[in-house]
Amino acid sequence: MTNTPPPQQFGSDNYSGICPQALEAITRASALGSAPAYGDDPWTRLAEDSIRALFGIDAAVFFVFNGTAANALALATLCPPYCSIIATDIAHAETSERGAPEFFTGGSKLMTPPCPEGKLTPAAIKLCCRKTQSFQASAPAVVTITQPTENGLLYTPEEIRALADVCQEHGLKLHMDGARFANAVAALGCTSAALTWQAGVDVLSFGGTKNGMAMGDAVVFFNRANARGFAERAKQGGQTASKMRFLSAPWLSLIKNGAWLDNARHANESARLFAQKITPIPGIKLAWPVEANSVFVLLPEHPANTLRAQGWRFYTMFGGVARFQFGWDAKPEAIEALVDAVESAMLR
Ligand SMILES: *Cc1c(COP(=O)(O)O)cnc(C)c1O
Repeated sequence: MTNTPPPQQFGSDNYSGICPQALEAITRASALGSAPAYGDDPWTRLAEDSIRALFGIDAAVFFVFNGTAANALALATLCPPYCSIIATDIAHAETSERGAPEFFTGGSKLMTPPCPEGKLTPAAIKLCCRKTQSFQASAPAVVTITQPTENGLLYTPEEIRALADVCQEHGLKLHMDGARFANAVAALGCTSAALTWQAGVDVLSFGGTKNGMAMGDAVVFFNRANARGFAERAKQGGQTASKMRFLSAPWLSLIKNGAWLDNARHANESARLFAQKITPIPGIKLAWPVEANSVFVLLPEHPANTLRAQGWRFYTMFGGVARFQFGWDAKPEAIEALVDAVESAMLR
């Protein structure tokens, strides 16, 4: 058997290139020559304004290089070193940031209560608060939720509100890891405001990289008072870009022309298309419903190995679930090729 290499990989949405609008924004910003450094440039100011306009609130906005920094710096800004951060046990902050939240807070703990289905619940937050009533325990200061979750599920505005209410009762701040926030907005069809500050979210890590930028995520504090010390922490942590305009110009462009939502819609539709095409294959089961741009497949070991041997890349997560992840650039013919590969792998 001769293997032709896969036409496109669906290992992650950060395998994608830079979307044309983002690339063009960088080129245009560069063509204008020199500009003040460290964010004191027109693109950064306008990009911050466009994010404030998108959310309809006078937020404090910062651009950093990646999502790990956005999460860790936002959490450190809201959590003293002697307190803790509540997250699910599959949260990126818990499993995939090499302790960055603990490092940047300088001593806080992550508390990861059992969360069936990968979503945090009001009961789980209450449990953490009950368990840490002693003076000697690390009392929670912040709750972090991921939207969409690491297993591809969405919190509705009502679910977020219910979590925020418990946070308010216990004096906790609510952070949202929105590495794929655009996909959530596109999938739920509600406004960015409805999914965040109107539902009680205090700070958002707003992902740009997986949406189609080269790099760069934004941190959005919906109440400016909460942002105290963030800029200083970002600089100390090596996350203040000196040529900031090349991080911010793509944000300005993608929000202005709506490409951020078009990209997310395409990614979500691609995931749905793939899921629709593989579910009729005998033996194929999805681990979770497809709500955004990920598809989690309960793929038996043998076909999984066959696919890998053919060169297909995908993550195996949560003790044996195959994840296929679709980005702004997912091509229908490549999805078709993957469907065919899954089908024949299942027959062997
Ligand atoms: C990708 C991702 C991040 C950010 O990761 P970086 O590699 O640091 O950019 C954060 N949270 C979630 C849920 C992610 O999927």
